[in-house]
Amino acid sequence: MGLYRDQGVVLRTVKLGEADRIVNILSQSRGKIRAVAKGVRKPGSRNGSRLEPTSHVMFQCYEGRELDVVTQVETVDAFRHLRDDYASLTSALAMVEATDQVAQERAANQPLYQMLVRALRTLDEQRAPLVASAFFWKLLSLEGFHPMLEHCAGCGRAEPDGGFDVLDLEAGGVLCQTCAGPFPRRVEPDVLAMVQRMLGGDLRRVLAEPDSPLVRDVERLALDALEHHVERRLRSAPLLASLHGRQGHWNDAAGGGPHPSIGIPVEVGSSRSEALEP
Ligand SMILES: [Zn+2]
Repeated sequence: MGLYRDQGVVLRTVKLGEADRIVNILSQSRGKIRAVAKGVRKPGSRNGSRLEPTSHVMFQCYEGRELDVVTQVETVDAFRHLRDDYASLTSALAMVEATDQVAQERAANQPLYQMLVRALRTLDEQRAPLVASAFFWKLLSLEGFHPMLEHCAGCGRAEPDGGFDVLDLEAGGVLCQTCAGPFPRRVEPDVLAMVQRMLGGDLRRVLAEPDSPLVRDVERLALDALEHHVERRLRSAPLLASLHGRQGHWNDAAGGGPHPSIGIPVEVGSSRSEALEP
């Protein structure tokens, strides 16, 4: 039991008693930690404003048996642009929720930590409707669920002309007509192709995609796969879905958030577009 210092991303906060919070942080060196932050709900608490979900912080804690105790917090990056944009913030909150579901307590996971920080940075720098979807697929891949998309997951048959159109999460990938059961889940070949590009090194261009029905379908599939893996619904799922379409926040110029004029800026040539690579 001792004092330690680490950096991490705040995943979740829960009220505790009158003035405290329990904070889940994905730390760089210790994996997920759960710590009590005392007095952070008192008016004017500086640590309280620093310990918001999605914030990247440097912190100091006393180790406890069940819960650690936060003694100091400094902001590394508050991701202010992301926080000022409803759609980006919604995506970021979905990513930290997914991370909270998957991360093991007190078990360092550097690839996950790096991937989360880079994904948040990407969202802070550009409005990219597919960041959360790409993050979910890469999270699953890190977890050992890397969907088989080039060959039938049942018999190994190569991709037919026109592509596969059945995905079976239980089987771990696409299925050919022979292997597909009586009630196959049809997925548009375009959607599967997009997932393949995300996982196959074409992330930069994928992140440049503006919102579209295809983007919405890719996101729905990514959410389904994630929820299948963690065996529960993501609280953020309905909010994510509401971002799409003509009235959605990715597109709604009138009430879409503080940056209505920028639309979906894309900087294809920038290095940060590969930001999700672990
Ligand atoms: Zn097959």
